[in-house]
Amino acid sequence: MKKTDKHQELICIICPRGCRLTAETGPDGKLEISGNSCPRGIEYARQELTAPMRVLTALMRLQNMEKPVSVKTDRPVPKALLFDCAAEIYRTHPAPPVRRGDILIRDLCGTGCNVVATRDAIAGESR
Ligand code: SF4
Repeated sequence: MKKTDKHQELICIICPRGCRLTAETGPDGKLEISGNSCPRGIEYARQELTAPMRVLTALMRLQNMEKPVSVKTDRPVPKALLFDCAAEIYRTHPAPPVRRGDILIRDLCGTGCNVVATRDAIAGESR
C-alpha cells in the first residue's frame, strides 16, 4: 500500500468487504480517513496508524504430550509486543487435559489479555 509522511493507504480487515482506506494528515496534524463504508473503518485506521493491535495465535506444547494445542489471545495485543507474547507462550507448558476455552496464561506480558485453548487436548488422544 502507498505510504508517505502525510498519506497512507490501508485495507480494513474488520469485515470481509475489505474497504480500501486512505488516511491523510492535514496541516493541523489531524488524521482524515476516507474510503470506509462504515464507522468501524475509521476506528480501525486510527488504531492501526497509532497503536496497532493483533490477536495472537500459536501452538503451545503441553507436558508429556507430543502434539501441541492451538491457542489464541482472547483480545488483540499490541503489535509491538507480539514477539514477547509469543515467547511467553512457547515457554509455557501446562499439564493436560486442556479443554477448549481454558485459560492457559493470564495477563500475557502485562497486556491484560489471556491465552485460551482453541481445542481440547487430552493425554492419550492422537487427534
Ligand atoms: S470499513 Fe466497515 S464495511 Fe468496510 S471493511 Fe471495514 S468494517 Fe467492513
